[in-house]
Amino acid sequence: MQYFNSNTVLYMDGQFIKATEAKIDVYNQSLHYGYAAFEGIRSYHTHNGVRIFKAKAHFERLKKSCELAYIPFTWDIDELIKQTYKILEINHLKDAYIRPLVFCPPKMGLDVASTSNLMICAWEWEPYFGSKRLKVGISSYQRPNPKSVPIEAKISGHYVNSILATAEAKRRGFDEALLLDMNDFVAEAPGANIFIEKDGKLYTPALGHILPGITRAAIMMLCKKLDIECIEKQLSVEDLKAADSAFFCGTAAEIVSIAAIEDKTFSTKWSDTLGATLLRTYKSMVLEKQNYEVII
Ligand code: PMP
Repeated sequence: MQYFNSNTVLYMDGQFIKATEAKIDVYNQSLHYGYAAFEGIRSYHTHNGVRIFKAKAHFERLKKSCELAYIPFTWDIDELIKQTYKILEINHLKDAYIRPLVFCPPKMGLDVASTSNLMICAWEWEPYFGSKRLKVGISSYQRPNPKSVPIEAKISGHYVNSILATAEAKRRGFDEALLLDMNDFVAEAPGANIFIEKDGKLYTPALGHILPGITRAAIMMLCKKLDIECIEKQLSVEDLKAADSAFFCGTAAEIVSIAAIEDKTFSTKWSDTLGATLLRTYKSMVLEKQNYEVII
C-alpha cells in the first residue's frame, strides 16, 4: 500500500508540507511508549461534492482521547475540519481515508507531555460497502481492562492488542478476530464494533469495554429511523453463536457481514438480514442521498 508519493502534501502543526519532507524526532514519547492519539475518518465523493463523514464527531473523539491520556489538545475543531478539506483538495482526493495523529515531543521519561504536535494526512480509499463476508476467530487476547487504560480513547498504544489479535486470527486461518472483554463478554474486533441479529432485533455490546464507534452510533441512529429495535447489552459467546446473523462496523470497514464465527456458520442469507438493510441505508446516508432512510 502506497500512502504517499513525491507530490503528497500533509498538514503538520499548522502548515502544509510535502509528506516526503515531514520529520519526527526519534526521541519522541509517542514512538517509544505509544503515547499518541489518532482518528480514522472517511470522505466520500457525493453529489454534494467531497464530504467528510461525521467530521466533527471524529475530531471531538480525538480531543476526548487526548484529554483522557493527558495529551494537550490546543486546536480548534472547526479549524481542523477546514484544514482537512484543504488537504483533500490539495491532494485531489475524493474517496479518501483521513488520519489525524496527535503525538508528543521528545522525552524519555514517563511524565505526561506538556505540548503536542498534530499531523493530518490522507490517502485514496475506495468505498467497498460490504462486498465480502468474513470468517471470524475468537481471540485468545482480551480487550484491555478499562481499569488499566481508558478504553474509550483511541490511543496508539492500545493497538498493539489489535495487532496481536489480528496476527493470531490470520495464523489460525480466519479473516478477522473478535476479542472478548476481561469478563469474557463479547467486545469488538481489532478495529471495528459488532452487532448481532436475533429474532428480528439487533444487539450490540454496551459501552464500557469497547471503543465507542462513530459508525456504531450512526447505525443505532439508523435503527431508530427504520424502526429496528437495537439493544445495547452484555453479550456472551453463546448469544453470538445463537444469533441469526452478525456484522462488523467501522469507519474503514463500513458494514461487513460475518459469515462464520469459529465453527458457527450463519445460515441466514445476508441479503435477508437487518445488516444488509442497514448497509444499503448507511451507503445512501454517507453519499448524502435524499430520503436515504426510505427503503426501496
Ligand atoms: N473499535 C476499535 C478498536 C476501532 O479501532 C474502531 C475504528 N476506529 C472501531 C471500533 C470503530 O470505530 P469507528 O466507527 O468510529 O470507526
